[in-house]
Amino acid sequence: HADVALYRAKDAGRNQFHFHSEALDIAVIERVTMAADLRLGLERGELELYYQPQVDIDTNRIVGLEALARWRHPKLGLLLPSHFIPVAEKSGTIVPLGRWVIEQVCRQIRAWQSEKLSPPRIALNVSAVQMNGSPEFDAEIMHILAQWNIDPSAVALELTESVLMATTPEHRDIINRLNRLGIAIAIDDFGTGYSSLGYLRAYRVSQIKIAQEFIRNIATESGDLAIVRAAISLARELGIDVIAEGVESSAQLALLKQAGCRYVQGFYFSPPRQADELIALLRRGTITTVAQNERPD
Ligand code: C2E
Ligand code: MG
Ligand code: MG
Ligand code: MG
Repeated sequence: HADVALYRAKDAGRNQFHFHSEALDIAVIERVTMAADLRLGLERGELELYYQPQVDIDTNRIVGLEALARWRHPKLGLLLPSHFIPVAEKSGTIVPLGRWVIEQVCRQIRAWQSEKLSPPRIALNVSAVQMNGSPEFDAEIMHILAQWNIDPSAVALELTESVLMATTPEHRDIINRLNRLGIAIAIDDFGTGYSSLGYLRAYRVSQIKIAQEFIRNIATESGDLAIVRAAISLARELGIDVIAEGVESSAQLALLKQAGCRYVQGFYFSPPRQADELIALLRRGTITTVAQNERPD
């Protein structure tokens, strides 16, 4: 079971790091080794993308898929991004890794299309270091899309507020240009940065993703619910879509529905899954809950 395997991988990873970090010098060597391993792993095809559905809660339609990187490490097992994206950012490998993500998404869209499926929009995560390392980021993305003959509207870019904070005026032009070319721009982890409202003015965004930390306790924390409600009405005024991240329970879902939130992503509907595991869902186009979709077989 993918979800369980994922948690196992996470635990395995944690234990490994805990074990090694008992000797600091070994931890440093480990990090350097890991950076080298990651670059090799990327070349050897050890990276994979998992995809998590984004759901329209009025219709249960899958309106998007977020691509999330995984590293199938030959010794450590399946690693989550928190174990290798920071390493990739520090070592510069995030630039080729980011390029691989875009290409892999294009390849996957084509693969699904060849199975007579029309996948919804695929969202990919972009790191600040990745943008800083590619002065012609927009041209690069447009070039890859053109190579695969994929329409810009088939993809979305998720930028965290830390990405937006680190960007220069040139980057802002790049992002706004990509948006004008038809690539949806989403602000990821909305509300966790320093200038959430400022970013809405400076960037042409299509979507905000309300950070999981605001969703987690909406059923018990009235303050969190108030913030979520305010974000939803602000977005509505601005004509921007809202996705709530990390929705795990029907109680959270009900409150979000009541607050006028239309799109959600979270374990309640589905964990991130391998592409092959999504075929049946994509064929159906709709999704209910994990419980209904994943009765033990
Ligand atoms: P993110 O973009 O905010 O992605 C959402 C994260 O929340 C994912 O973690 C997802 O598995 C997790 N999640 C989704 N629903 C739930 C839920 O209901 N409950 C809980 N507890 N978690 C949920 P993941 O896959 O570990 O990714 C973590 C972060 O790593 C991402 O956060 C993103 O910032 C970064 N990341 C992932 N893939 C890439 C990539 O290809 N490139 C870059 N630059 N960053 C990536
Ligand atoms: Mg994201
Ligand atoms: Mg997020
Ligand atoms: Mg996050």
